[in-house]
Amino acid sequence: IFAGVEEADAEQLPRAPVVTIMGHVDHGKTSLLDYIRKSRVAAGEAGGITQHIGAYQVKTDHGAVTFLDTPGHAAFTAMRARGAKITDIVVLVVAADDGVMPQTKEAVEHARAAGVPLVVALNKMDKQGADPDRVKQELVALEVVPEEWGGDTQFVPVSAKTGSGVPDLIEAILIQSEVLELKAPVSVAAGGVVLESKLEKGRGPVADVLVQRGLLKKGDFVLCGKEFGRVRAMFDENGKPAKDAGPCVPVEILGLSGAPNAGDEFVVVADERKAREIATQREERSRASALAAQQAAKLGDVFERLEASAGSVDLNLIVKADVQGSLEALRGALSELSGAKVRVRVISGGVGGITESDANLALASNAIVIGFNVRADAGARKLIEEKGIDLHYYSVIYHAIDEIKKAITGLMAPEYKEQIVGIAEVREVFRHPKFGDIAGCLVLEGYVKRSLPIRVLRNNVVIFEGQLESLRRFKDDVNEVKSGMECGIGVKDYNNVKAGDQIEVFERIEVTPTQ
Ligand code: GDP
Repeated sequence: IFAGVEEADAEQLPRAPVVTIMGHVDHGKTSLLDYIRKSRVAAGEAGGITQHIGAYQVKTDHGAVTFLDTPGHAAFTAMRARGAKITDIVVLVVAADDGVMPQTKEAVEHARAAGVPLVVALNKMDKQGADPDRVKQELVALEVVPEEWGGDTQFVPVSAKTGSGVPDLIEAILIQSEVLELKAPVSVAAGGVVLESKLEKGRGPVADVLVQRGLLKKGDFVLCGKEFGRVRAMFDENGKPAKDAGPCVPVEILGLSGAPNAGDEFVVVADERKAREIATQREERSRASALAAQQAAKLGDVFERLEASAGSVDLNLIVKADVQGSLEALRGALSELSGAKVRVRVISGGVGGITESDANLALASNAIVIGFNVRADAGARKLIEEKGIDLHYYSVIYHAIDEIKKAITGLMAPEYKEQIVGIAEVREVFRHPKFGDIAGCLVLEGYVKRSLPIRVLRNNVVIFEGQLESLRRFKDDVNEVKSGMECGIGVKDYNNVKAGDQIEVFERIEVTPTQ
């Protein structure tokens, strides 16, 4: 099914390089991207106002160049973290009047780590203080050596303001691209990567994708991360309807079942049934790993504590749960875990959130705190963080027991770690005629991300676990909202959020066994 299978034998044709622009803040990344995009518009290539999609292509007599429209190493690294290899060449922008700065250095490190060659744009050459030779020397110190000094990196003086040198920069990119001998298979099932995606009113899920192989056509069935669908409509970077798109062409596609994640791979599959089947399998697999994640093994240190002590030890536990029944079940089962070397003692148990007094008790008696479908309140959290108290959250009794048991027997092999990445407080709930309840929230800590799972907490007790249906700021669908900002949250299949509730956003991270 997957294109990769046939790829080895498939005919390969030269393709355009895909370029990311990186560099220190204010050195001119955006200006350069804008200048190149505008000059392309001026050259009559784009019809009128350009629709903004995550990338654009510049065509020259010597070939095309695709620029990813997301400057900055954060986007680059985020993509790479998701396993997507999309950039062939990094253009490192350094302001010639400022020189190498911390993020310049970081960009060099990121590009090097990814094994992506650099082309250096010495920007702001129109400025009085521009000193390209000094910048060259500073870059040599980072082992980025200009060709004219015997190295292998092209340095091109430019001005994103006047445009001088920009054609030379594009030429340099094309030369670098030739060296790389970039090719893409053509007669294979089309596939590529998602650059950005959003839910748009009236259009549904919209994904900006970069085709990497084959020819993507309108009407194709695609599988895209955990989403699938038929490409109902396709638009080029200028917003014009497109019938097909080949390698390195960015397009916007409509018709997916949901918004995929940036960095997700997409592939064309034979028919809808197949696409749906695989998407469902993926969904199930991710749900299974989510379950495994609840066994989140943060208890490794318990075992260390046991090893460190010669005789028998007490393992003190403080158990807080959402309801009396769970508390009793946990208390009983945990006490039964006592063995020859370890005595498990539930020194305190109760119903409700974890309080400062629980944390203090844990501290005093060197106990582990277990929250079963409950959370620590602000005071407790502060103490727990400050003092490094061992706190574990669970939502399945068996997982709590299994994990403590494993900790005791030293069989800990953590596979997944769960981490709370953000907390939003519900300020007001709006009834939306079409989308159900929308919670007007303030993000208190961390960030809220559309793609991550969530829990709804009331008085520090978990009352719902699920997914976000929508995340908006003002009228826009967004992927992420940071602390201190307000947003509208729609929770999937749940219409019982109230003002004062908290929405906890969490993430499950796979832990490699070698760690
Ligand atoms: P970014 O943070 O790297 O995206 O940098 P920007 O593109 O936002 O540019 C930062 C500032 O430098 C802006 O005020 C730009 O107008 C200015 N700038 C960028 N390129 C040039 C240039 O080549 N010459 C001059 N004089 N100013 C520039």
